Amino acid sequence: MACNLLEFAMFGWIEILLLLFIGSISYHAVVANYGPGLIAGGLDSLLAFTILMLLHCLLVMLLWSYFSVVFTDPGCVPPGWRPAVDEEQFDTLPLTMTEVPAYSENGRIQYCRMCNHLKPPRCNHCYVCGRCILKMDHHCAWVVNCVGALNYKYYLLFLFYAFLETSLVVLSLLPYYIALSSEGETPETPGIPATSAPAFGSNLVLALSSLGFLIKHILLVATNTTSLEAYEKKTTSKWQYDLGRKENFEQVFGMDKKYWFLPAYSKEDLSKIPALQGLEYPSRPDLDMQEL
Ligand SMILES: [Zn+2]
Ligand SMILES: [Zn+2]
Repeated sequence: MACNLLEFAMFGWIEILLLLFIGSISYHAVVANYGPGLIAGGLDSLLAFTILMLLHCLLVMLLWSYFSVVFTDPGCVPPGWRPAVDEEQFDTLPLTMTEVPAYSENGRIQYCRMCNHLKPPRCNHCYVCGRCILKMDHHCAWVVNCVGALNYKYYLLFLFYAFLETSLVVLSLLPYYIALSSEGETPETPGIPATSAPAFGSNLVLALSSLGFLIKHILLVATNTTSLEAYEKKTTSKWQYDLGRKENFEQVFGMDKKYWFLPAYSKEDLSKIPALQGLEYPSRPDLDMQEL
């Protein structure tokens, strides 16, 4: 098992290197094609300046979001965590692994047999990380980390900026790709870099796949559901965490609009929104969890 995990971790870092490699050739292709246009004057200069400025701004946001997902702990269960119930009720709870089922859903107490501790709501055990993750969404090999309560927003922003950046690269390289593909035609800029064709192809694939993931996760955020819970939801028509689109969005992105597009939270949001800490989640008052 340890060997498999080691192999997986190494494979994950190879994926990071692959992404950095694609990023490097894409950067080279766009800069080499549009860089000379900066001193050409007229509309060429304006176009080159606009594309290069957008490229660098998006690149900063993409790298910031990406490494925030990679290096932010998705959230673990604090040692000795116990559910917030009154003492009398707590005394009646079964607390040993022989008494409590491994997975007891619908808001009731859960216990992880692997970690030997009680689990907060929406917490799941990750077999790759070897520990319980708060509001676990999935383990992502591309970021060599779990995506959970504390880095889910950063993951969504990573998808968002990845889609914008790769789309920009595809659109800006399209004229050069067409020129390279068409025999007898040469682009106005002399010497199209060899990185143009692989950068165009790889960014087209990444743009389409990041768009697919983005759409999937927008639908999940709109209903306050994780990827794991989406399977659970199929068995019930009611979802206790669905508080309406606005509140569902705020539980992931916070209420401070200045931070919506940044991989960070304001101090006020962190103190006001318990869901951002990953241990407590408000549920719909009109739904009795016992009925679910
Ligand atoms: Zn666990
Ligand atoms: Zn994991």
